[in-house]
Amino acid sequence: MCLRASKGARVKEVSVEERQSVKTSISPAIITRVRDFGEADLLVTFFTPERGCLKGVARAARRSRRRFPNCLDLFCLSRVEYAEHPRGGELHTMISCRLLDGFEGLRRDWGILTLAGYMVEVVEMLSPPQTADPSLFSLLLRTFKLLEGEIQPLNVQIFFEAAAMALGGYGIELGRCCSCGRTYEGRGRAAFHPEKGGIVCLRCGSESALNPGLDPLGVQALGHLQALEWDLFERMTLTREIVQAIERVNRRHMDYRLGRRPKSLAWL
Ligand SMILES: [Zn+2]
Repeated sequence: MCLRASKGARVKEVSVEERQSVKTSISPAIITRVRDFGEADLLVTFFTPERGCLKGVARAARRSRRRFPNCLDLFCLSRVEYAEHPRGGELHTMISCRLLDGFEGLRRDWGILTLAGYMVEVVEMLSPPQTADPSLFSLLLRTFKLLEGEIQPLNVQIFFEAAAMALGGYGIELGRCCSCGRTYEGRGRAAFHPEKGGIVCLRCGSESALNPGLDPLGVQALGHLQALEWDLFERMTLTREIVQAIERVNRRHMDYRLGRRPKSLAWL
């Protein structure tokens, strides 16, 4: 295995001792970013269930596809084998790679591909590098599968947003008014309050652009999405207005909790 940096690449050469102590790992991974690196290499960012987001250099991957046949394309699910950085650095070395699922259905439409990119960006914001997050990994795979099907993309988007935030510890309180504490009985509209992280009854607050409202079906649907109950959500009969209302709540919630908007949102 050659760990020598190609010309122009910012990788230090490692000693013989370090080379001998290199630890290799194998993991399923979703390829989240790929860019040219040096003269012939690729810099690959990949999301794994047990180590979160990682970066690796695929040596000579642009010159020869033998070791990396069709498995380093954006949003592919691949089985990656990589040598960990010998000094604990963040840049690993890709050894081999095998395609598990190319998610070809994502590539049929520019809007779907952009939505997949937005989901990856949210994952990067929620998941600290090199930290295990198998639930978020499963969610991303599941939503990629849904995007390949004949499902309204906005429905998949609100599912991903609500579920990802809940898995990240930012679930929206839907069971009671976050101001007076009264239990929400599933009757009447409620307004979302970003600072309180939940809904408030209309005695305690009012609907506005900053505090988007939900009707009872919207609250119930959002509850299913946060609990990753896609099947129950799908069985509900929801109007486009309700789905859009949930998206407005998700947007306000994510803006407030994440502190910045994913750049790719501008393209959706
Ligand atoms: Zn109240």
